[in-house]
Amino acid sequence: MGVRQETGTATAHRVVILGAGYAGMAAAVQLAARVKGREGVRVTVVDAQERFTERMRLHMTATGQRTAELSIPELLEGTGARFVRGWVTAVDTAAKTVRIDDDRVLRYDTLVYGLGGVADTSAVPGAEDHAYTLSSAQDAELLADRLARLGSGTVVVAGSGLTGIESAAEIAERHPQLSVVLLGRQEPGAAMNPRARAYLRAALDRLGVRVCAGVEVVKVLPDAVQLAGGESIAADAVLWTSGTRVSPLTAAAGLAVDEHGRILTDAALRSVSHPEVYAIGDAAAIRQGYGVMHGTCQGGMPTGVHAALSIDRVLRGKQPKPFRFGYYHTPVSLGRRDAVVQFTRPDDSPRRICLTGRMAVRYKETVTASPWPTYGRMKKMPASGAIWPRGGRFTRNQEAQ
Ligand SMILES: Cc1cc2nc3c(=O)[nH]c(=O)nc-3n(C[C@H](O)[C@H](O)[C@H](O)COP(=O)(O)OP(=O)(O)OC[C@H]3O[C@@H](n4cnc5c(N)ncnc54)[C@H](O)[C@@H]3O)c2cc1C
Repeated sequence: MGVRQETGTATAHRVVILGAGYAGMAAAVQLAARVKGREGVRVTVVDAQERFTERMRLHMTATGQRTAELSIPELLEGTGARFVRGWVTAVDTAAKTVRIDDDRVLRYDTLVYGLGGVADTSAVPGAEDHAYTLSSAQDAELLADRLARLGSGTVVVAGSGLTGIESAAEIAERHPQLSVVLLGRQEPGAAMNPRARAYLRAALDRLGVRVCAGVEVVKVLPDAVQLAGGESIAADAVLWTSGTRVSPLTAAAGLAVDEHGRILTDAALRSVSHPEVYAIGDAAAIRQGYGVMHGTCQGGMPTGVHAALSIDRVLRGKQPKPFRFGYYHTPVSLGRRDAVVQFTRPDDSPRRICLTGRMAVRYKETVTASPWPTYGRMKKMPASGAIWPRGGRFTRNQEAQ
């Protein structure tokens, strides 16, 4: 089969945004609003799915719960950005092209890389073959099928970070006949203040989740996980949530990346090796005063907004501004009826204040639903208007100037 080239208008500046997740959608809606009505700029968004993946709700999908049907083309409607559905298989930074589904080629002048990350199943032998992940909606549905078919048995959740905690709690609540074991190097909620941590632990105990902290999984077998001390824990299903890696596409494209495959950026979110490529969300390694940002929607959406503002400035012959971001909170669901929200300092260290119980559930739900009102506000924004709430509710991004 021949390769189809999509060249667009010869004179237009082609901005191609890879990934319509939280960060990519923020970039697309923001940039499209900025350049709307301006001749000569074309914004294209590429994603494998037409349905928006609510990654923050994949632990719900994995337990058979239905989440909203959100269509990317509908969310982009009226923005002027065009949507291309397809799987990105390669980026050629020399030719400035993106290959989609192996048979289509898109040309770009500016590329925004926002394809997110996946659970790092390469870290331990057997995880790739035998463990489930929450890397995509399809992966979450596979686990949902397995859990629905298990009458009784043990589910091991490997990784005691936030995804592991939320998943273990959700599985225990939805499938009370299953034994749920949460394994990890650290105590769940280790980065929280003592009150939030104790609340979280009590909630896991109430749900019947067995917590094994201070352990290292060294192998995943078809029916068990093996720990560093030689002990094995029998498992009818293993969910791998430990670590994140970015697709080998980034390194194969010759982009400078870190050890997780994340694209190294300068202060304006441009690749340090290829300044016409911007990196956003989980796929980017973005250094701030306190260290490299870790993957969250909280930080990912502002990176998308900032990349859009930077591209717009460059197109207008101006210098892009540096990106600055401070964390604000760590919201963790503990099933559908309980949650804990740890408020944080900008460097993500815990403050004394936290929310628990119903208040925290409501807060978490508001945060999880936050993209839709935010994208809506962006769509309506006049090109010169403020884009991200200054000192906003969800971030301290300073860029809305
Ligand atoms: C269970 C769970 C709960 C979470 N809870 C929270 C929370 O409460 N708060 C918070 O801030 N963060 C939370 N996170 C983290 C958050 O979801 C991620 O940080 C966020 O989704 C990253 O956004 P992104 O746009 O970079 O990537 P994504 O949202 O993962 O989007 C990437 C997009 O790229 C597409 N894609 C990927 N590869 C290809 C390809 N090769 N070709 C075409 N398309 C492709 C995907 O379809 C997807 O639409 C949670 C994560 C999980 C798994």
